[in-house]
Amino acid sequence: MTAPAALRITGVSKRYGEVQALSGASLTLRAGEFVAVLGPSGSGKSTLFRCITRLTEPDCGEIFVGAHTLHNAQGAELARRRRDIGVVFQQFNLIRRRTALENVLAGRLGNVPWWRVATGMFCERDMALAMDALDAVGLSAQRHQRADTLSGGQQQRVAVARALAQESHVLLADEPVASLDPETAASVLSLMQTLARSRGLAVLCTLHQPQYAKAYADRVMQMREGRLS
Ligand code: ADP
Ligand code: MG
Repeated sequence: MTAPAALRITGVSKRYGEVQALSGASLTLRAGEFVAVLGPSGSGKSTLFRCITRLTEPDCGEIFVGAHTLHNAQGAELARRRRDIGVVFQQFNLIRRRTALENVLAGRLGNVPWWRVATGMFCERDMALAMDALDAVGLSAQRHQRADTLSGGQQQRVAVARALAQESHVLLADEPVASLDPETAASVLSLMQTLARSRGLAVLCTLHQPQYAKAYADRVMQMREGRLS
């Protein structure tokens, strides 16, 4: 029997009033695969990503993460399924005043209560996972540096490390390089490509520039007026 896809969605739709933001989106993402989604602004890329984690509730459709269903999960089960998906955004979304390491440890949230992050009470396993994640993104030496003193590229690497520490098998990256200069953007995309290959991470990444998709993605999908193809 073949292993289930890392992420599979079928027929996911979302309408906002008169706007059909997403129309029956389906995709399958295998472990180790880096898939890029290209599409103009307003075409529904962020809606797709928010629907996958159900931060936006889709109108219909099915979402499977590994062997589990996410579309009908509720409560604690939904929280567990969401933890299987790491997310990275254009604006990094780090806790500015916390160190790189504390931000990555925050990826263990849900696994440990927040007060333990604030008071530094982590078990050895949490710390080992966080250190390994920082090492994987090449930021071990900066672990005690405050997030807001890191460069944009370093901040996005911390965000990727936070997703890794969460032990998710799927990474959703919504315009992860839109705020970065071309050289830094290339290094962040190259990092995600490496993580897909070395760790079997399944990466779904929206991009604006087709040349980045061509250079780093195994497969490219297009979003046009809410339709994914
Ligand atoms: P993209 O990420 O490709 O730029 P979005 O998914 O953000 O596109 O938006 C797709 C469409 O859905 C747009 O027409 C946008 O205006 C609309 N939209 C997105 N979020 C909301 C919302 N919360 N309320 C109403 N309309 C929304
Ligand atoms: Mg968007």
